Amino acid sequence: MKTSPADLRFILQSEQFTTVIISFLLVYLSHFSAFGQFESIKITPQKTYGPYENTRSFFSHQKHYIPGEPLNQTVKTIYIAINIWQKDDGTGNFTESDELHEHLLELTERLNMHFRSTPPPSHPVKGIDYLRDSHIRFELKDVGFYQNTDLYEVGCFDGNRLNEAVFAISPEKRKFLNIHFTPGNCRGASGYANYPSSGSSGADSFVVSFVKHDRDDLESVQWWALMLHVAHELGHNLELRHPYNSEYCQTSHPDFLFDLFGFEKQEWCHNPRPGCEICYHDGSWGCDLKDPETTCTNNIMGGNRAAGNITPLQMGRMNRAIANKSVRKYAWGFSLVPYEVSFDQTWDTDIKFYQDIIIKTGYTLHLTGTIEMVPEASLIVESGARLIVDGGRITNALYSETHWKGVVQEPAIKKGFLFWRKDVPEGEMIITNNGKVENYFR
Ligand SMILES: [Zn+2]
Repeated sequence: MKTSPADLRFILQSEQFTTVIISFLLVYLSHFSAFGQFESIKITPQKTYGPYENTRSFFSHQKHYIPGEPLNQTVKTIYIAINIWQKDDGTGNFTESDELHEHLLELTERLNMHFRSTPPPSHPVKGIDYLRDSHIRFELKDVGFYQNTDLYEVGCFDGNRLNEAVFAISPEKRKFLNIHFTPGNCRGASGYANYPSSGSSGADSFVVSFVKHDRDDLESVQWWALMLHVAHELGHNLELRHPYNSEYCQTSHPDFLFDLFGFEKQEWCHNPRPGCEICYHDGSWGCDLKDPETTCTNNIMGGNRAAGNITPLQMGRMNRAIANKSVRKYAWGFSLVPYEVSFDQTWDTDIKFYQDIIIKTGYTLHLTGTIEMVPEASLIVESGARLIVDGGRITNALYSETHWKGVVQEPAIKKGFLFWRKDVPEGEMIITNNGKVENYFR
């Protein structure tokens, strides 16, 4: 089934409409309950997530992590490390100098410019509001020099070997996303990176970048091109694929990028690849974006020298990865805007929160999955609300340096007046089936 812009608008409108109706009903009913007339009416909590069957499909959809959505209220910073691989005698790659450090800091700053203020798309899809800030930043935490002639010229798919060799010498670097600069080769590619893992939250990410420049003359290095290349590889670490050969190409796929390919088969598309509903874009470095004969774009994953734009759904997918995939362990940030649980729900997912969670009065959060909390965050159970940790776990984020702030149960209160005065009990927490709330400040 295809989803056209009109369909999407309809889904959005009907979602908003439902919200409006429910809000109106709540206001209406609370107004009358103040006079006691509808005190016995129990408002049935909204139990659906619009078109989503359950919370798992809600939490797994990339659009819910677009910057500004309730699940993505803040900028997250990913800690990175750069490792320079040299021969045993210290030759064969960049050598350590203040000048090199400055170039690498500048590379990181330019990377951040791209993610903070992404250039507009060269080929916008009609009806899409493009965003500038992806809510993702990078912080260079370490630059290391490693001498190992055997590993110096690795080829394809050796990122894990390079990672392990670094961790054997510098175990603390497991906390960072490691970028390896080597003079190796992988079938002519300029580098590669791994996708994050959803099953194994401890899995390590890596970027391997094949640096071919004259490494003695730092002025002649094409730092801008190297930055674009690193940005592209980090995109893979955050689950992005190539618009020229590996992005999802069926409009029914939940991760399809409508804001990159459009809502239906492109006019110029005559022969989609087998299994695809749309055509991929051209993906060569030198492709001229303005040439009407070509289909390349300036997308960050497009492999073009003018690469840069990040679409809203790409931003959503990357931010989803730093909530529920292994790459989240490198990411830090906190929003003062809490995530509100305002209808009864069960969470069976494994997710990291960069904001407080508030369970609103009258509602229950039933937790069977795992929640990781950044150190600044707490989980607030309002008076008359309930948290059931049912075999689930609430813990501090992997590699946190301190505990998280814990569960706050708000005290019992009295609501209403005269005959309608009502006791609202303390926020309740029930731990069952070996559920755990751990590593918080007591
Ligand atoms: Zn790639």
